[in-house]
Amino acid sequence: MTESTPLHPGLLLVLSAPSGAGKTTLAHRLMRELSSTIFSVSVTTRRPRGKEQEGVDYHFVDVATFQQKIERGEFVEWAEVHGHFYGSPQSVVEEARARRGTAIFDIDVQGGQAIKRKHPDAVLVFVLPPSMEELERRLRDRKTDSDETIRRRMLAARSEIERGVASYDYVIVNDDIERAFQELRSVVVAERCRRGRVDLSMMKLEKTASEPGR
Ligand code: 5GP
Repeated sequence: MTESTPLHPGLLLVLSAPSGAGKTTLAHRLMRELSSTIFSVSVTTRRPRGKEQEGVDYHFVDVATFQQKIERGEFVEWAEVHGHFYGSPQSVVEEARARRGTAIFDIDVQGGQAIKRKHPDAVLVFVLPPSMEELERRLRDRKTDSDETIRRRMLAARSEIERGVASYDYVIVNDDIERAFQELRSVVVAERCRRGRVDLSMMKLEKTASEPGR
């Protein structure tokens, strides 16, 4: 389906969830199915895992390079998570504004809150697993983590869920990926039409010379 001409100056969409809730699947599908979406590839100092690719999953850099980027103001937000640095590029915000597109940030709650402080028009969406039991089962099914790592991830998930639900704009329960996707898509479509976002200067109203007497 094609979308109407945007009358908004770009949408910043933050998606957060505990790992295992399925937010990356949702983000990628949004990229495929909605026009003018830009995925924010974060910069990190952690090493690539498994099949992760430079420039696709993350930009992998060393700590000195990361520090330089902080000093040059290249991040819209950055944070330390599990002993590594992660940052979202400021250039993605500028690209979304220039193209009047939707930038998707697949980041944690502290990152989402930081983006909202800088850009109050950002939309924060939290994705919940259907239950804590199901989250643990999904983490175990990945077969990539030890019992100890799973225990730590479950503890982190609890606090991330509490903070996300308390401070985000929307909460989507991912018990069925199709329904969760349709809910997320509806949020984006509605937010693109929100009155407060509409910039009438984009319609060039003054050029419609159809008033009587002219
Ligand atoms: P992982 O190392 O498992 O890919 O990510 C660890 C955590 O860092 C996840 O919760 C992820 O959402 C978060 N994260 C990834 N990129 C960024 C970022 O640019 N900024 C912030 N604040 N968190 C991020």
